Amino acid sequence: MNNAEKSLNFIEHIIEDDLKSGFSRSDLRFRFPPEPNGYLHIGHASSICLNFGLGLRYDSPVNLRFDDTNPIKEEQEYVDAIKKDVEWLGYQWDNECYASDYFQQLYDWAVQLIKEGKAYVDSQASDEMAKQKGSPTEPGVNSPFRERSIEENLTLFKGMKNGEFEEGVHVLRAKIDMSSPNMLMRDPIMYRVLHKDHHRTKDEWCIYPLYDWTHGESDYIESISHSLCTLEFAPHRELYDWFLDQVREAPKLRPKQREFARRNLSHTVVSKRKLLQLVEKGVVSSWDDPRMPTISGLRRRGYTPESIRKFADTIGIAKRENVVDVSLLEFTVREHLNKIAPRVMAVLDPLKVVITNYPEGEEEWLTTENNPGDEAAGTRQIPFSRELWVERADFREEANRKYFRLKLGGEVRLKSGYIIKAESCTKNADGEVIEVQCTYDPKSKSGSGTEESMRKVKGTLHWVSAQHAINAEIRLYDRLFTDATPDAHKDRDFMEFINPESLEIRTGYLEPSLETAKIGLRYQFQRLGYFCVDPDSTENKLVFNRTVTLRDTWAKLDSGQ
Ligand code: ATP
Ligand code: MG
Repeated sequence: MNNAEKSLNFIEHIIEDDLKSGFSRSDLRFRFPPEPNGYLHIGHASSICLNFGLGLRYDSPVNLRFDDTNPIKEEQEYVDAIKKDVEWLGYQWDNECYASDYFQQLYDWAVQLIKEGKAYVDSQASDEMAKQKGSPTEPGVNSPFRERSIEENLTLFKGMKNGEFEEGVHVLRAKIDMSSPNMLMRDPIMYRVLHKDHHRTKDEWCIYPLYDWTHGESDYIESISHSLCTLEFAPHRELYDWFLDQVREAPKLRPKQREFARRNLSHTVVSKRKLLQLVEKGVVSSWDDPRMPTISGLRRRGYTPESIRKFADTIGIAKRENVVDVSLLEFTVREHLNKIAPRVMAVLDPLKVVITNYPEGEEEWLTTENNPGDEAAGTRQIPFSRELWVERADFREEANRKYFRLKLGGEVRLKSGYIIKAESCTKNADGEVIEVQCTYDPKSKSGSGTEESMRKVKGTLHWVSAQHAINAEIRLYDRLFTDATPDAHKDRDFMEFINPESLEIRTGYLEPSLETAKIGLRYQFQRLGYFCVDPDSTENKLVFNRTVTLRDTWAKLDSGQ
């Protein structure tokens, strides 16, 4: 096996084998087929990256197909959100398709099946039909309506279409085999009556085709060569093929369904139905709440499309389901933001530091790099003055030799600034430190070239000049669920595992360069993590989301780096 082959996933192997056995490369065509009944989530990203990735690899068209056959749950809002998300992830579809565009063709094919004696109208109640279905070990029982005449079937089916019947009175079923070992082959329902307006076809139809009848035929209409879906559809493959066999006219291409494992992420749920519950019950503010595992939530949280694509690529395509730890997703975004995010300083839990030997009323502007790892990112100026904010956790009255932050009698360097020494502190009536008095070494300014500026002290702290600081609302997020697999418990509902402390709101004190920060921009708040400007920001108030913390911040600092 050479290297190129090694990197292929099993779906690509299937395609390579097809090409080797004579399938024409120019006939390759893929699709991503979401149902517009919710927003896309991180699980969908795997399917998007797989299908669009194949398009790029083989230079083949990829359709975006809305599987919109259930007007009860589908909405235009979801269509719009899905398009936005796929584009944001960086993919361009060849055609924007809708299963609803095929309703007439599907209907015509259904009529053809009736005429061929391969479909019939069943007029039993649904529980009656369920009883006749049998079990995996017992064959089913034929419906008393199974042998209806073709004429009667045609009349009734037309009546269903024309709105002559209430919901549930009749359904159209394929006439296959009530004793098939595959329960899905036991005369599956093709159509039901639904007096509901559809977001596209409005009131044009009051019968709607079911998934199995729609999906393969839509693939066929669009000449999709490889129809990739998740594993739960494996038992549907036989039916997918049966329906295709009824309508296909050779030599038109016969689509091929292949299955891969659904991707699950720890500490969350990846199911539109369950995510909708979180929105409807007010557990989160919206589909794009930054705690949601939706593409729109991750975008608002500060994730980059590159990091999501990288994540999908890293976890790859599997044959068996498993749960991927959310820390891997966090790792990929951290890695990307480390490269691209400008560094700034912000204090989230402020403690006042007064530099007693710095003249009152004076200020100076210090030059600092925007990204030490990227010279092209340039530099900016940050103000320094007598009164500063530092992080409360960065000061202790007393501490052992391993504590490299500020302690009485000890020195630290202020990032891009001076070396300061803590001389004394003031406490309130509760014994809490409310101010630390320090002195600074005027010759120690970073980058000034003096001997003192090169002097090594163990700790470097971030800080913000108090008089220049701007206030912002800072939203800190924790996992939405306390359990790694909230929806995998047999007798407990996933809603029982919601983390009541998944959102913490703070006021942050930010360096003034952030005053002009625009919605969506991402920054590293030094030593604190990566943050992104939230769309809730207004002209008067900035709101930041913490995307992810920095890895091992304290461990690094305390080991003296
Ligand atoms: P949900 O249960 O969240 O609604 P779904 O499978 O019903 O998921 P669809 O809109 O039908 O959602 O999905 C579109 C495509 O994305 C399908 O091909 C589906 O198999 C795939 N997909 C959905 N969820 C995942 C997942 N967690 N991992 C990988 N692929 C997924
Ligand atoms: Mg679905």
